[in-house]
Amino acid sequence: MDHVQEQVLVEVADRNVRFIRLWFTDVVGQLKAVAIDPGQLEAAFAEGIGFDGSAIEGMSRVYESDMLLRPDATTFQMLPWRRTEDPVARMICDVYAPDGKVSHTDPRGVLERAIDNAAKVGFSVMVHPEIEFYLLKPPVAFDHIEPVDNASYFDHVAWGDSNDFRRRVIRALEDMGISVEFSHHEGGPGQNEIDLKAVDALRAADNIMTARTLIEEVALREGMVATFMPKLFIDQPGSGMHLHLSLFEGGDNALYSASGQYQLSVTGRQFIAGLLAHAREISAVVNQHVNSYKRLWGGGEAPSYVCWGHNNRSALVRVPLYKPGKEGSARVEYRASDASMNPYLGLAALIQAGISGIQQHIELEPEAEDDVWGLSDQERRALGIVALPASLQEALEVMRGSEMMAQTLGEEVYDYVLRNGEREWRRYRRQITPAELERFLGVR
Ligand code: GLU
Ligand code: MG
Ligand code: MG
Repeated sequence: MDHVQEQVLVEVADRNVRFIRLWFTDVVGQLKAVAIDPGQLEAAFAEGIGFDGSAIEGMSRVYESDMLLRPDATTFQMLPWRRTEDPVARMICDVYAPDGKVSHTDPRGVLERAIDNAAKVGFSVMVHPEIEFYLLKPPVAFDHIEPVDNASYFDHVAWGDSNDFRRRVIRALEDMGISVEFSHHEGGPGQNEIDLKAVDALRAADNIMTARTLIEEVALREGMVATFMPKLFIDQPGSGMHLHLSLFEGGDNALYSASGQYQLSVTGRQFIAGLLAHAREISAVVNQHVNSYKRLWGGGEAPSYVCWGHNNRSALVRVPLYKPGKEGSARVEYRASDASMNPYLGLAALIQAGISGIQQHIELEPEAEDDVWGLSDQERRALGIVALPASLQEALEVMRGSEMMAQTLGEEVYDYVLRNGEREWRRYRRQITPAELERFLGVR
């Protein structure tokens, strides 16, 4: 047992922890949990805890179903809503195959591999996620979806439920060791945003899973429903998850150069070029649902075209302004990813795309200076700006031809994402929507 694991055992005893929840994530990005008794902890660290992988989306085939969960002791945290009576703690796990090897189908393992690859080229990746979501009044039904308020961007809602809610979520996150940088009301009614402080990519993905879980839990406790659905209302903004990425070489921000355009280094330019070159291929992972494409093509400041810009919110990759003397915070913002993404797979794809730009010295095209939504197709074509996939079907088709994605995800996860996406697309294609009923029957 290592030092951190020993510390966890001491803390479990000191705090009288009654249950330890072992968390992991399936390929679709759904959090999974199993509770163990503290008495099993040593065995969990030493050998892992067995579970039936074939019952988990994308984990394993029925004929090779035994898998092991091995808790990462550095992720040990008390769950904030169970601190006194029967205290409960959680740890995030890596999934292993029975032969003791890291499982190929564990999304966290996919991200760990991408992080290792970046490290081999000399970079560590830091990530600051912006999580958007809607808060609704229960009960939620097909014909009843009511936001908790009618406010919009940055509004202060007097006596509003959202203020209280955000305060509670932030306290719960901080109790679990996750720092929040900003939080505010977003553009849509009942829409909010919580931005987590930049941490290394693995921690960032863990934090996103934890934050989404806390947001849902706190909402339920406060009599509300939180949703990360990418596009909920036709005429309101969708819920994105912008990801601010930076690369470090030792202690230095590799994206920064004092003399570069917008203080971008050559490495920074190549990193962006890589993100743009692979943007269409990674779409089925950063925008994994049928509904994701309604956000990308439904306005509300979601990107639809592959281009970059400086402070240009119509661009897919934005280089934000940062204050002089703050070169450590040089970063690029990827704006397509949505709030329902599997953060492990999404970050793995983005890291691999950006790093491949550096490895292949891809040249960055000039930035888009205009509002690209406002240009005609012809104008965009003249500027060499291509569109993001218009549907999940198109995204899957592009991913099917992507060597980069097959390598990043590993064969099994790659096949699963494709198969699962196709299933979702086929199910959707059979639907008869209210828009069609309205077209033919005049009913709403
Ligand atoms: N909600 C918008 C989206 O879907 C983003 C708004 C913003 O710029 O924060 O991406
Ligand atoms: Mg936002
Ligand atoms: Mg943003």
